[in-house]
Amino acid sequence: MKCPNCGTELNNNETFCTNCGKRVDGAIDTPTGVESSNTNTENKVEETVQQANQPVAANTAKYNSTVITGFVISIISIFIISIILGPVGAVLSAIGLKQVSETNEKGKGLAIAGIIIGIAVIVIMVIGYATGIVSNS
Ligand SMILES: [Zn+2]
Repeated sequence: MKCPNCGTELNNNETFCTNCGKRVDGAIDTPTGVESSNTNTENKVEETVQQANQPVAANTAKYNSTVITGFVISIISIFIISIILGPVGAVLSAIGLKQVSETNEKGKGLAIAGIIIGIAVIVIMVIGYATGIVSNS
């Protein structure tokens, strides 16, 4: 038996052409064809909806707690016990940044900010000690 549509040789028990998908058992093709194309359209709509939902899902992802802790400690280190909290904030932010890149949690920007602030505090403290500003105060 050959497919009347594309001419592919088929087993006699095939209902649909294995090459082009056309119905080859003699039954009326149209209802099935309409049905299957409707199903395809629905599937495509579903896929589109899922794709549209993905960014939303990413936006509702939780912030990494290590990132938040590191960032907060870096901010606090600007004001108090800078020589301890600065390094702690920078290190926690760096750990958080690594976790965020592995878990797809939110907080990459916050982690980078925490690292920069923590390092800036350390640098300012080092310069302060070196110049005697901090130790004199
Ligand atoms: Zn065919």
